[in-house]
Amino acid sequence: MIIAIDGPAASGKSTVAKAVASRLGIHYLDTGAMYRAVAWLALDRGVAPDDAEAVTLLALRHPVTFAYGQDGGLPTGVFIAGNDVTAAIRLPEVDASVSAVAAVPAVRAEMVRQQRELARDRDAVLEGRDIGTTVFPDAEVKIFLTASNAERARRRQIDLTRAGHEVTADEVQQRLELRDHLDSSRESSPLERAADAELLDTTGMSVDQVVDAVVIRAEARR
Ligand code: C5P
Repeated sequence: MIIAIDGPAASGKSTVAKAVASRLGIHYLDTGAMYRAVAWLALDRGVAPDDAEAVTLLALRHPVTFAYGQDGGLPTGVFIAGNDVTAAIRLPEVDASVSAVAAVPAVRAEMVRQQRELARDRDAVLEGRDIGTTVFPDAEVKIFLTASNAERARRRQIDLTRAGHEVTADEVQQRLELRDHLDSSRESSPLERAADAELLDTTGMSVDQVVDAVVIRAEARR
């Protein structure tokens, strides 16, 4: 069974997808981490994020891999080209360049290929922007998570402050809105709700309530 969780930045996808995977005891794949890893590598190598040819070469040559703890479960690390980029892919400079990298069609094709391979023959929860539309259009459960812009900015600001980055809620909201605009307006599999995905607005909902809602739908399909 494939559970596809798509939605804009900071809509709660990771928190919900991880909790759903843990509850159901199935695999979890953070597809945004894969685009972030390629964006990190481009920055590291001095490649402009919108240099389509150069970033495509990086993506083709350096598959993204995940590390798992002894009990399987949730991933503990993200790697590319021999680098542990688990923390680095969350830096503001990666936030600022990842949408350009993710807009390159050949990069997307390669990421989708790797994602299908990583989820092959297993039950999995995948979170991203195009899981229900492109990566697994036949997913048994499709959820499109949203929350108000102010709520998403508030949640992301809490994460950033915890990680030691001092930013105002306004700044965070502007950056999220810009990234959503770039992700929704690109030509190649943009961020959009699949026609058959269920819209879940999580503004004012607790994490547990959202997770319960997804798990109920998954159990109904099992
Ligand atoms: O989910 P996260 O915010 O980590 O994703 C980072 C970026 O990766 C998104 O802003 C988007 O540009 C890209 N992405 C994508 N397709 C996905 C997942 C992420 O284009 N399936």
